[in-house]
Amino acid sequence: MATHATPLQGPVAPGVLPLSEAELRHAFLAEVDRIPGGGRLNQCIQCGTCSGSCPVSYAMDFSPRQVVALFRAGAIETLLRSRTIWVCASCYHCTVRCPAEIKITDLLYALKRLAIERKIFPRRFPVYMLSESFVDMVKTYGRNYELGLLRKYFLRTRPGVMLRRMGEGLALWRRRRLSFRAERIKGIDGLRRMIKKAETFDRPRELVRKERITDVVGYQTLDGKQ
Ligand code: SF4
Ligand code: SF4
Repeated sequence: MATHATPLQGPVAPGVLPLSEAELRHAFLAEVDRIPGGGRLNQCIQCGTCSGSCPVSYAMDFSPRQVVALFRAGAIETLLRSRTIWVCASCYHCTVRCPAEIKITDLLYALKRLAIERKIFPRRFPVYMLSESFVDMVKTYGRNYELGLLRKYFLRTRPGVMLRRMGEGLALWRRRRLSFRAERIKGIDGLRRMIKKAETFDRPRELVRKERITDVVGYQTLDGKQ
């Protein structure tokens, strides 16, 4: 799948961002503006409490502390391409324990939204495809239909694996754990109207704008703008 981001440029002078990085940074900061307290990102003291509290940091390529450090270093594209933003289990331990009250979980969500918007993830990326397939099921049936979900997910990611795992599916069906019949909920039209309406809502912006993060971090782009 093609990415919308331009390739990384470099090398550039210290403290200067390549244009692609600057554009991604602006898009990320626009997301941060919508997070209540998101502006506290610049208060990080790099204590590592977030990383020490994270139950899945062992599976991340960058720990939560490193995520903040990379943001400060002007490496948004590196973060968008990282495994970390997809591995986060949204348990909020880091956010609750951060002494600087930084909303790390919400910032990781902001990065994830940006990566989805720019399609910066591998082709046939399982995490994204599972989520897309699940949403398709809810829109079609008003609930999850496991067999349909599995079929869509494997066809979009690894069709060969679906064939290899058919035996497991049959075993589940024999034990009545998996149904071949899709059941649609009553009032599906009403649910679809609600989903359609909800998709038109914009996310709320933070009511009180904090100081601009860009002013504190102070990077410049190659064209001289921040
Ligand atoms: S716990 Fe908070 S202050 Fe400490 S490194 Fe993590 S984000 Fe920074
Ligand atoms: S919210 Fe995500 S990053 Fe934070 S501690 Fe939980 S899993 Fe780790």
